[in-house]
Amino acid sequence: MKQRLVILGAGESGVGTAVLGLKQGYEVFVSDKGKVADKYARELEKHGVVYETGQHTEEKILNADVVMKSPGIPEKAEMVKKLRAKGVKIVSEIEFASWFTNAQIVGITGANGKTTTTALTYHILKSGGLNVGLGGNIGKSFAYQVATENYDYYVLEISSFQLDDIEKFRPNVAVLTNITPDHLDRYDYQLQNYVASKFNITKNQTAADCFIYCADDEITMQNMEKYPTQAKKIPFAYDQEFAEGGFVKNNTIIINLNQNQFTMSIQELGLSGRHNVYNSLAAGIVANVYGLRKEQIRESLSNMKSLEHRMETVAKVRNIEFINDSKATNVNSTWYALESMTKPVIWIAGGIDKGNDYSVLQPLVKSKVRAMICLGLDNTKLHSAFGKSVDILVNVTNMTDAVRMAYSLGNGGDAVLLSPACASFDLFENYEDRGKKFKEAVIQL
Ligand code: ADP
Repeated sequence: MKQRLVILGAGESGVGTAVLGLKQGYEVFVSDKGKVADKYARELEKHGVVYETGQHTEEKILNADVVMKSPGIPEKAEMVKKLRAKGVKIVSEIEFASWFTNAQIVGITGANGKTTTTALTYHILKSGGLNVGLGGNIGKSFAYQVATENYDYYVLEISSFQLDDIEKFRPNVAVLTNITPDHLDRYDYQLQNYVASKFNITKNQTAADCFIYCADDEITMQNMEKYPTQAKKIPFAYDQEFAEGGFVKNNTIIINLNQNQFTMSIQELGLSGRHNVYNSLAAGIVANVYGLRKEQIRESLSNMKSLEHRMETVAKVRNIEFINDSKATNVNSTWYALESMTKPVIWIAGGIDKGNDYSVLQPLVKSKVRAMICLGLDNTKLHSAFGKSVDILVNVTNMTDAVRMAYSLGNGGDAVLLSPACASFDLFENYEDRGKKFKEAVIQL
């Protein structure tokens, strides 16, 4: 008899799982309590998947042999509680998809830098001639690609929600970029639960696998012993040296691995900023693990372009540089953005504050920021944090005003940096919308 696969949530991962499930001979049922986007409804219909929207019909769900829960659905959702009470197996999309591929898997997780490190690693492996797919939170789901492609390697961006429901998922190479508190609402406001989820990336690894991590990251280091791994551990850091690992010395990246050394000047990296040195180290280690040619790795690390909304140079107008870092939705990301600035900064910040502690930004703001433009419905916290550190503080409520104001305050040689340290929902749809509006306003100048 066919196994019954029930999928909760008809988004990218749900639809991908449905297509793969059908191909693997499951009886598939998709249930989404909300509305399903047109493109996903069309995809489900194209493959003849049975699905429902606007409701969860209990008797069609609780009879599942296995359930794939989309990452957006929390544990406390009613239907998830019922499934748990009945003891039905619940897995995430990456877990399910991993059952049906023998490809080498590079799994990348962390609080910040996931997308950048994933895109960079993919770029190096692909330029190196490997038959490699890019998935996870970026682009097409992993499950969909396992169903429809035939890659030998996958580079996957993996969120903590995807890691919550894994059982056997085992990346051959795992990367943990860093851990800072995030999404704690989904983890009972316990940092340790979030940490445990991140360390799931390595829990099934064997001695044949590699676990790459940042030895400068305090929370990672405090937890290494609590979550032991069989994998070969390969650290990276700024000011430490490793016989096996990556680090920086005299402005040069050095990666020591298997008696081999890879070196490259930091100046040559395509992605700038201290955070991107970390991301380049992590991606560079993966490429070295797979034995790619050094010349090839160097070339790919140097010709990588920054991704949209992440320290993206938009234009120079009157010799004022405009930089879009709209993806910086927390203080830690903005710290790295400000840290990387070498010109006087007109800083556009603000939005929805997720309980930010701005004190860590003070030294950078005092030394680098000439003027601050507060772009949020409520800017009181920014004013009380930075009123004494910055001479000029202005409030605006839309992006056009923010960019015009920055332009009028700027001198040749300055940089205007949109790096909000806050979520965008007060004035924008999401961080992409915020970044796009910034770029449009700059082009209008
Ligand atoms: P994620 O996918 O984990 O959200 P991104 O690669 O999209 O991460 O980067 C988001 C923001 O985080 C960037 O705008 C950048 O300012 C910051 N960032 C990127 N890499 C790192 C890192 N390794 N450590 C800290 N912050 C980073």
